[in-house]
Amino acid sequence: MSGIRTVAVIGAGPVGLAAAAHLLERGLDPVVLEAGPAVGHAMRQWSHVRLFSPWGYNIDKAAGRLLAPSGWNSPDPQAYPTGGELVERYLEPLATRTALRSHIRTTARVTGIGRVGFDKVKTSGRERAPFELRYRNGAGDETLVADAVIDASGTWFRPNPAGASGLPAIGEEAARQRIAYGMPDVLGAARARYAGKTVAVLGAGHSAAGTLIDLAALARDVPETRIIWLLRGDDPAKSFGGGANDKLAARGAVGLMLADLVAKGGLRVETGVRVSRIESTDRGLRIAATMPGSAREVVVDELIVATGFRPDLGFLNELRLGLDPALECPAALAPLIDPNEHSCGTVRPHGAQELAQPEPGFYIAGMKSYGRAPTFLMLTGYEQVRSIAAELAGDRQAARRVELVLPETGVCNVTAPANGCCGGPPTSNAPACCAADEAAKQAGAGGCATQRGGCGPK
Ligand SMILES: Cc1cc2nc3c(=O)[nH]c(=O)nc-3n(C[C@H](O)[C@H](O)[C@H](O)COP(=O)(O)OP(=O)(O)OC[C@H]3O[C@@H](n4cnc5c(N)ncnc54)[C@H](O)[C@@H]3O)c2cc1C
Repeated sequence: MSGIRTVAVIGAGPVGLAAAAHLLERGLDPVVLEAGPAVGHAMRQWSHVRLFSPWGYNIDKAAGRLLAPSGWNSPDPQAYPTGGELVERYLEPLATRTALRSHIRTTARVTGIGRVGFDKVKTSGRERAPFELRYRNGAGDETLVADAVIDASGTWFRPNPAGASGLPAIGEEAARQRIAYGMPDVLGAARARYAGKTVAVLGAGHSAAGTLIDLAALARDVPETRIIWLLRGDDPAKSFGGGANDKLAARGAVGLMLADLVAKGGLRVETGVRVSRIESTDRGLRIAATMPGSAREVVVDELIVATGFRPDLGFLNELRLGLDPALECPAALAPLIDPNEHSCGTVRPHGAQELAQPEPGFYIAGMKSYGRAPTFLMLTGYEQVRSIAAELAGDRQAARRVELVLPETGVCNVTAPANGCCGGPPTSNAPACCAADEAAKQAGAGGCATQRGGCGPK
């Protein structure tokens, strides 16, 4: 790619800022457009949550190099920051104490991207036209012209709905006052909302697990608090993850704590709940799951929906995109991150080549690059933007090189643990750790961890 000078970066989260650091190092001119009033705007919404990856995994190398001369001290690589600490001790210094300072525009929400003088249909000469970004700030609509664009706008502000079909449940919008999405701070700012109430948490991932554990802590303080865990699937054990085998120990610990909570009856578990209808009644919030042949309902005071996130593709409408139809991620990435195949495995590092779009010079990176898949790690994003910056600077060799070794979850690597979760004999009631494990067991094999090329990292 030649003639690249100005690169627009959408989003000042950890990956957007890392992208800007790499671009700057390569002699390019990044312009970071951030919708929120300050950098790390999405992370500030979950500032109370402790990360499962330690500092050593959370700092981008180019960002670290930019910070070093400012007198910044890298935090203890073994310690685990909260989202708030990551913003305060890393993203803010990066945005205010380094050369990046003059490259960031906050309160600048990107609303559309096109090619100057080319609508989506027009082809001839298209790849030579610069990008036109439309963004909105306090003064109104503004335009930025850039030679390339990295969209690192994340997915935090687009939570999935409670409805099991991917559409909001009927009544979900109307009942919004009693519904929260993501990870509300149930032990802090939102404590009064949940203390002493009957609270349902819908979801099976890390966010649901963290919220359930926090609610259990709240229930120890305020015993009238009742917790109901609503699962669309049939097996809570699938949420317990890698446990002691997880190379990211803090992530494994969450799974172990949740397993312990369930075993001790600290919460009520309702499996197979595919929510179709939500209604505010005099008795509380009525959550109904109607499936052919069975109808179920629970009544609670509050519902927390932790069913994952999806990317905002609306402002990319004028660009030619090659996205996977299911995951809404760059097509080449889909086989690497498909949660049907990788529920606990590790995704191999990847970069500009896998993230390239039919629109030359446009990349989706960071959390958004995983579309609807939930397994993103910041470290993966840092490798993505290192490679993209190298590609944009014309250093193809560095763009193709893999400079990252990812931690493995571990669970799919080990030989049959005692509970038969991954690998082990194909007993009818042994839970599988991932889709490949389940398929292997169903086929009568000893589970994928016992086979070459099973569900562990390739
Ligand atoms: C609760 C939680 C815990 C996590 N814990 C870990 C962990 O321990 N370790 C790990 O490696 N990963 C973790 N992740 C996953 C991931 O690494 C983080 O979500 C990380 O913040 C992703 O960085 P990002 O820069 O891609 O996106 P974000 O941090 O979401 O940043 C995107 C930015 O883009 C801005 N933006 C959005 N739309 C626009 C627009 N139209 N115009 C301009 N700006 C826009 C947003 O305001 C935001 O500031 C966690 C995720 C969550 C939700």
